[in-house]
Amino acid sequence: MATQAIQKIAIVGGGTAGWMTAAALMKFVGTASDKKARCEIVLVESDEIGTVGVGEGTLPLIRQFNQTLGIDEAEFIRETNATYKLGIEFCNWARIGDAYLHPFGDYGFPVDGIEFYHFWLALKEKGLAGSLDDYSLPAQMAYANKFTYPERDPSSLLSTFSYAFHLDATAYARYLRRRTEAQGIKRIEGRVEHIIQTEDGSIESLKLASGEDISADLYIDCTGFRALLIGDTFKSEFCDWSEWLSCDRAVAVPTSRTGELLSYTKAIAQPAGWQWRIPLQHRTGNGYVYSSKHISDDEAFGTLKRNLDGELLAEPNFLRFKAGHRKISWIKNCVAIGLSSGFLEPLESTSIQLIQQGITKLLELFPSKNIESCLSDEFNRAMLLEYESVRDFIVLNYHATERDDSPFWDYCRQMGIPQELKEKIDLYKRRGYIIEQQQALFLIPSWLAIYTGQHLVPEKVDPRVAGFDLPKLAERAAELKQQIIDALDKMASNNEELLRNCAPNHNDASPQAYRNLYGQSRI
Ligand SMILES: Cc1cc2nc3c(=O)[nH]c(=O)nc-3n(C[C@H](O)[C@H](O)[C@H](O)COP(=O)(O)OP(=O)(O)OC[C@H]3O[C@@H](n4cnc5c(N)ncnc54)[C@H](O)[C@@H]3O)c2cc1C
Repeated sequence: MATQAIQKIAIVGGGTAGWMTAAALMKFVGTASDKKARCEIVLVESDEIGTVGVGEGTLPLIRQFNQTLGIDEAEFIRETNATYKLGIEFCNWARIGDAYLHPFGDYGFPVDGIEFYHFWLALKEKGLAGSLDDYSLPAQMAYANKFTYPERDPSSLLSTFSYAFHLDATAYARYLRRRTEAQGIKRIEGRVEHIIQTEDGSIESLKLASGEDISADLYIDCTGFRALLIGDTFKSEFCDWSEWLSCDRAVAVPTSRTGELLSYTKAIAQPAGWQWRIPLQHRTGNGYVYSSKHISDDEAFGTLKRNLDGELLAEPNFLRFKAGHRKISWIKNCVAIGLSSGFLEPLESTSIQLIQQGITKLLELFPSKNIESCLSDEFNRAMLLEYESVRDFIVLNYHATERDDSPFWDYCRQMGIPQELKEKIDLYKRRGYIIEQQQALFLIPSWLAIYTGQHLVPEKVDPRVAGFDLPKLAERAAELKQQIIDALDKMASNNEELLRNCAPNHNDASPQAYRNLYGQSRI
């Protein structure tokens, strides 16, 4: 059967998801592409409704996204007031007083194809090794507040880490909008009020409050928590994961910058959730993610305020959400990307990354006009796996706790957990084995960071290490530790490196300037 190319795409929503999708579609299938097949892309958004307006932590793959779009990193950093991010520090998660890092990089060195952590566990058992962080370059860089760029040469120590950004997601969306509009995307300001469907249930057109009709071959739902197309119109089932991720509220507030810029996010466990602290160039982002069953909004804001170290720059922004995702994110000619397809709370900064994964999958499976169902099936299967693996990783943080000082932590410690996660934890506890999921967002070093930080210690070490000369390996590990220390000496401080590359965009962080620039946006 002859297939007809998609000629028009309508994106509904202009938050981070909408503009990231718009930018990528423009590049690969739209008018910004240098290919012959070009399709018209329109984006409808409503300023009146606004965007979520938070979202400041990212994962390293965002750099790949930007590079693919041809974005200059220094310009991006300036435009989004970004800072470098080498990982996330978890404070008070397993026990009060604890702190550990989930760094973006590897630990140690493999020996004869065996992962370093197996040796480290054996050395540690015999008192021959230091802390896991001693063998992680990004962890040491983060704590020493040093920065340099990774190298590609696999023999270089500098090839063992990656970095992401803390950024102002609203500014990122604005920046992408400017670029994408310059490439010819049509932006329509307005509220979509009705969705008109064909007999077979596909979307025929969108009706705006202004009376305008927009019809397209493919519709992308980027309407955030509203999920106007995928939820309201298609009634795609929402898989509710709040029994495992019970935080359902957040209060966010920016403060003035104080002290040195850190190159890691702080995630500080609190009695009914956790608090984030994210350093941007011009301000610090803060928030308390909490369970409304365990604390009121006022108490949560009170706790947050008591733990802030700068001047408040805006009124608190209270947000509500439910952890979970749409069972099906691509139905007929509608694909949901962003919060409309799901949300797993911000602990591991995965939302923008899941937007990126959704866009990448959509482009890989880009349909023709008659939308082959095998493409949407594969998209839905792949996205479900992504969500589930991120879910398990975040649940691990909550569940593997020893805290018994509040009803919230009692609940997290005692709750049932997804079967796949239970199996993963069992394998690690019994034999120190970490499942390598090929296409998952979080790989072995990330799981190891959390297991170790949460004090999970395997009952047995890998029997393969028995055949190795452990004292000799201990010497090699000590050499690596020293190499890391030496490497730090040659690096610039995080601030220096940042400022060398790009001066901040908005230096004036007074409360008034903040309000003028960022306004208040709610869900
Ligand atoms: C507390 C909290 C903290 C977070 N922290 C992080 C983080 O650190 N890292 C991270 O990666 N992510 C984070 N996120 C998630 C991140 O904010 C979102 O994933 C991201 O901003 C994308 O949102 P979105 O574009 O899907 O939705 P939104 O920002 O809500 O955008 C929705 C868009 O749809 C439009 N719209 C809605 N209805 C209509 C209509 N009827 N007609 C026309 N337009 C319409 C709106 O105008 C808006 O433009 C956080 C989220 C929350 C709640």
